[in-house]
Amino acid sequence: MIEFETPKPIVKQQYLLQTVAEEMMRPHSRYFDEHEHEIPWDYINFMHQAMQAVGAGSLAPASGNGDKEKEPDDKKKKYPPIGYQSLAFMLEMLSWGDVGIYLVTPGGSLGAAAVEATGTPEQKKKFLARFQAEEPAFGAMAMTEPQCGSDTSAIRTSAVLDEETNEWVLNGEKIFVTAGKISLEDSDGLVVIWATIDPSAGRAGMRPFVVEAGTPGVSVTKLEHKMGIRASDTASIVLQDARVPFENLLGSPEIPKKETKGFKGAMATFDATRPLVAATGIGVSRATLELLKELLAQQGVKIRYGLPRQKLTSVERDVIDMEIMLESAWLMVIKAVWLADNRKPNSLEASMSKVRGGDIVTKITQKALEIMGPIGYTRDHLLEKWFRDAKITDIYEGTGQINRLVVARNILGYRGEQLR
Ligand SMILES: Cc1cc2nc3c(=O)[nH]c(=O)nc-3n(C[C@H](O)[C@H](O)[C@H](O)COP(=O)(O)OP(=O)(O)OC[C@H]3O[C@@H](n4cnc5c(N)ncnc54)[C@H](O)[C@@H]3O)c2cc1C
Repeated sequence: MIEFETPKPIVKQQYLLQTVAEEMMRPHSRYFDEHEHEIPWDYINFMHQAMQAVGAGSLAPASGNGDKEKEPDDKKKKYPPIGYQSLAFMLEMLSWGDVGIYLVTPGGSLGAAAVEATGTPEQKKKFLARFQAEEPAFGAMAMTEPQCGSDTSAIRTSAVLDEETNEWVLNGEKIFVTAGKISLEDSDGLVVIWATIDPSAGRAGMRPFVVEAGTPGVSVTKLEHKMGIRASDTASIVLQDARVPFENLLGSPEIPKKETKGFKGAMATFDATRPLVAATGIGVSRATLELLKELLAQQGVKIRYGLPRQKLTSVERDVIDMEIMLESAWLMVIKAVWLADNRKPNSLEASMSKVRGGDIVTKITQKALEIMGPIGYTRDHLLEKWFRDAKITDIYEGTGQINRLVVARNILGYRGEQLR
């Protein structure tokens, strides 16, 4: 049963993170928004030290299927497993501080989540070790290509085994890779590249490959100029005869006849990360609501909770409705991460929480601008920035439409090809 009391270790963690968010993120929000692609090294170095001290180097939860190796340890502890829940709270708080800066928190991020979801125990140990090293390192995951976004099974990047050298040779182009540059060029990080080892096998041929910083034949060819989350780099990566060792293919190279194993690995990664993306939207929404109420209070508008609805002003009703949206979206995140922590399937809940998180952050930031009018529109406050930062929550790791399809398929019991 879901426990609604926040576990004590998380409460403790949140005190520290709130200080980081208030003192190391929020005061620099505007600067890093206006200086796109400048790297917030002070924040990165501080967070790297802090996370090493608490042993949270990879910034990725164990996979949705659970990390069986960790089970005995978890059971010995006073609290049930809370890895995902702890990350959800952490990402919410850091995104309350600044979601763009949060996206350059050192650690494996999506890349490590893909390793966790698809790698063998040996691969996890080997590839995630760099996130515990002395210097900060970053991870990314590259699925999207110029001709393929939502339909991830259409990827064309290829991986061919050179049997003489026992290396995979990768060719193709990946676009819109969050933290692609910082992972490959500014740190000793890695990018998990999804490629096909057999184009005729469709989804079953998809496999994730670890491409490490410094691999010859891999280049960052473009950085996007974006509307929001401007502290985070969004890179294009070209692979030209890029060679990686055989063991950099995560999981097994065997292609089972009837399964879509490779594709399932991609989906397991998303089950792990979609609630966390939703949590970032919750953080931005909470920041917006708090500032909105503060600005309203400065104008003498207080929210009179407890009055019958017909006695409230329209602004009061709007604020209360926004608070309801925020609370309900957060509860969906908590349910999705609780299921993951307890090693239960969470595909439905992960997509539901992502849909709701993307929706509410877009609505709340837009409504706050509407209520504050010109004050919200100027750069005197961060409301306009959060409005720009919000929309991405509904785009990456499956758009709102695609996650709605996943929800419908789960409820109706349809496979992908039956409901598109
Ligand atoms: C800032 C940023 C960071 C990103 N980071 C990453 C990353 O780290 N790694 C990565 O691999 N990708 C990343 N992406 C890519 C992102 O995941 C894709 O943009 C997204 O999946 C949509 O794909 P697309 O852009 O090709 O749009 P399309 O798939 O062409 O979709 C266009 C529109 O059509 C809708 N649509 C598509 N198919 C359907 C359908 N069947 N039913 C209903 N509607 C549909 C979509 O919802 C969307 O609104 C990032 C994108 C951005 C903008």
